[in-house]
Amino acid sequence: MNQTRDIAIDLVPAGAAADEATQAALRESASKTAPSESKTNIFDFDRASLERFFEEELGEKKFRAHQVMKWIHHRYVTDFTEMTDLGKVLRAKLEERAVVHAPQLIFDKESTDGTHKWLLGMDPKNAIETVYIPDKGRGTLCVSSQVGCALNCQFCSTATQGFNRNLSTAEIIGQVWIAARHLGNVPHQQRKLTNVVMMGMGEPLANFDNVVRAMSIMRDDLGYGLANKRVTLSTAGMVPMIDKLGEVSDVSLAVSLHAPNDELRSELVPLNKKYPIAELLESCVRYALRKRGTSVTFEYTLMKGVNDQPQHARELIKLMREFDRRVQMKDAAKVNLIPFNPFPGTRFERPDDETIRGFQKLLNNSGMIAPVRRTRGDDIDAACGQLKGQVMDRTRRQAEFRKRLAQGAGDAAA
Ligand code: SF4
Repeated sequence: MNQTRDIAIDLVPAGAAADEATQAALRESASKTAPSESKTNIFDFDRASLERFFEEELGEKKFRAHQVMKWIHHRYVTDFTEMTDLGKVLRAKLEERAVVHAPQLIFDKESTDGTHKWLLGMDPKNAIETVYIPDKGRGTLCVSSQVGCALNCQFCSTATQGFNRNLSTAEIIGQVWIAARHLGNVPHQQRKLTNVVMMGMGEPLANFDNVVRAMSIMRDDLGYGLANKRVTLSTAGMVPMIDKLGEVSDVSLAVSLHAPNDELRSELVPLNKKYPIAELLESCVRYALRKRGTSVTFEYTLMKGVNDQPQHARELIKLMREFDRRVQMKDAAKVNLIPFNPFPGTRFERPDDETIRGFQKLLNNSGMIAPVRRTRGDDIDAACGQLKGQVMDRTRRQAEFRKRLAQGAGDAAA
């Protein structure tokens, strides 16, 4: 993952009240709107599985499934009684057996730069955030795949929250649905939402089936009609799952690299001990070679004095050139430079602008494309690494981080 995906819980003392408020809002909305467990949530289905549901469970024709998808994803209608091109008998059957249940909107905020963020309750104890970033001619939604993350990358605020669970397909596509509805997005006509990046909270490839199904709805004409290349999955480097992704999907791949050698990367991204850089890049080569013209984006969060020095840039250039050579395509490797956004309790710092520009210049001078990601939405805490969710941690990592933070505050006061 990368910093865009970081959904940081507010751990400063003032945040405790905010966390309690979020918990209260979660309890209230959950008690009002909890879906019936005996009913099937239509949001969990992509086209193929909804067709099966209609044929096998409801004894209906496939095209009825298509009509329902359009009502939900194009017109944002969730009440079956309002789906007027369905017969009364089918509407009654659907009401009895199914429900269209989106995550609960706790609040939404808009930044002065147009960035928008929604806090969404996933169950009575967990909430995640989804962020929309408008830019010239495009609108990108950053979507989460898990509540928290188990991978423990050292510079990542999500990691400090620990891990609770995978999100269901309904909870993943529900983020897109809520944002698209809010923005007045009309697929194929009035597109406000042009790109989705699976870069929010969590490691998407650790929740493979739900993520793949949700991405299928994003790309389906009956869903959000996004082109393959406009849906990006970002991974910390789960090598076997990259290969599996290549077998079933054709989305854009982004890899959270963050370091140009194994020694440093294993320190920053512990998953590297299991899948070192050479193995990771080989799997990316296989992914790119499946289809001519495919590039892979490598994300590199710049941290002061850690990975921002000229020798790191030179090592990175070497890796990326080797990748281009193996894929036999110029610019097969693209690098996104992300200045680190500090969060409370982190030991990392953002490099100064001169260092960032110097690093970028070295990459550009070698002929590489390496944009520096701009900070967006910082007035609503929606910039990379500043987002805030609510995770009931099952890993004790959140407690350890809070303890470390409290110790740090004590040391500072002494
Ligand atoms: S993989 Fe998980 S811990 Fe690592 S950066 Fe991404 S969200 Fe954070």
